Amino acid sequence: MPLIVVTGFPTSGKSTRAKQLYDYLSGRVADSKHRLHLISDDSLSISRTVYDLAAVPAHTRSANASEKDARASLYGAVKRVLSDKDIVILDGLNYIKGWRYQLHCEAKAMRTPSCILQIGCTPDRAKEVNQARLDARAAVERGEKEATDGPEPYEQGNWDNLVFRYEEPNPMTRWDSPLFTLIWEDDEAQAKKTFEALWDAVAGDGRKVVKPNQ
Ligand code: ADP
Repeated sequence: MPLIVVTGFPTSGKSTRAKQLYDYLSGRVADSKHRLHLISDDSLSISRTVYDLAAVPAHTRSANASEKDARASLYGAVKRVLSDKDIVILDGLNYIKGWRYQLHCEAKAMRTPSCILQIGCTPDRAKEVNQARLDARAAVERGEKEATDGPEPYEQGNWDNLVFRYEEPNPMTRWDSPLFTLIWEDDEAQAKKTFEALWDAVAGDGRKVVKPNQ
């Protein structure tokens, strides 16, 4: 069953949409023998700091070694569960096209489809979300607010860098297609329409048979 790769800027609403998709798919597969998995940095306790090139001393490890380790964990988690009975939603930045290619190849090796769900959000809006989280953390540190279990913010430099490094999906490539998009403003009805189209393409009647040599 499909591997659904969520992608988008940091704090653009990926986890929110991934949870909505999870709920939608739970309804679709409730009466069958399929299993549903939602894998994310948070589910694997991967900290936002792994993406922070400035946080790693360059003389001790290669600049993005921690990010590579994180990708290895995510890859292992996907590989462990992906099968013809398991639907996997991978909620994360997934911003490197070579990484999305690798995930596509993994699905193909399992003879199961993959697709991309891109979360469209302006950088300004996404930045506001991160800023609110930075402000809330600062208020906790000053003792003005109780700590909550909410997602941790990205340090500002890390956030800026991730937006700068983001490699837009290209639906003309095999590994970025089929490509589905939801934007911040899309309401529940629009999200449901998109999830239906996604389901039809990768699990319903429109599903393409995956041949290993394609
Ligand atoms: P990401 O997973 O990309 O870091 P989140 O899903 O955690 O982003 O979303 C960040 C914040 O924005 C959350 O507080 C969430 O409630 C809010 N949010 C996300 N998507 C939307 C949306 N489409 N409309 C309104 N608020 C949203």
